[in-house]
Amino acid sequence: MKKPFWILAIVLGGGLVIAAWIQRQIVVIDYYPRCTRCLRTYTVVEKKLFGYTYSKTQKLDFVGYDLDEITGTPCQHIYARGGFGKQTFYLKGDGSFPEERVFRYRWKVLTKAFPLYQHFHNKKLMRETLDFADECIPPDATLYFLNTEEGAKAFYLSILADNLTSIQSEQDWKAALNSVKSQMAADAAKAK
Ligand SMILES: [Zn+2]
Repeated sequence: MKKPFWILAIVLGGGLVIAAWIQRQIVVIDYYPRCTRCLRTYTVVEKKLFGYTYSKTQKLDFVGYDLDEITGTPCQHIYARGGFGKQTFYLKGDGSFPEERVFRYRWKVLTKAFPLYQHFHNKKLMRETLDFADECIPPDATLYFLNTEEGAKAFYLSILADNLTSIQSEQDWKAALNSVKSQMAADAAKAK
């Protein structure tokens, strides 16, 4: 009468092995959709099994800066995915989405400019900074933007991001903006 016991043991054991194997096939992906205008940011965590997303959670990390106060129009959010983490039973990795490479310098400039606005309350300078950011990398730029002729302007936002690092006064801010604008105009003149 020992036969049923062995059958049960094999079935249970096999079940456990399969459950453990399935557990190891789970892929957890996290990323951060961020508004290209006001920097509103979420964290999204997706759990996938065999390519199928069976769980997706979204958490608001940052409510975003108040564009309405600066431009008179509430932000019409446009999200791009930043950050990228992938975790399986065997490996853990970080990377980035192509969108992050497109908006990197725009986000960097805005991350520095909004706190300057909150400190100095200079709407005119903030609007000029936003306009310049839009001119160099539009908030709705496509993934192919950097490969286009217009995409070369992204470079000037990397300079502005550096220029905005040590701002002590509104004059510094204005000078930082004007300096990169002059450089852009001079380069454009040379290219003609
Ligand atoms: Zn927004």
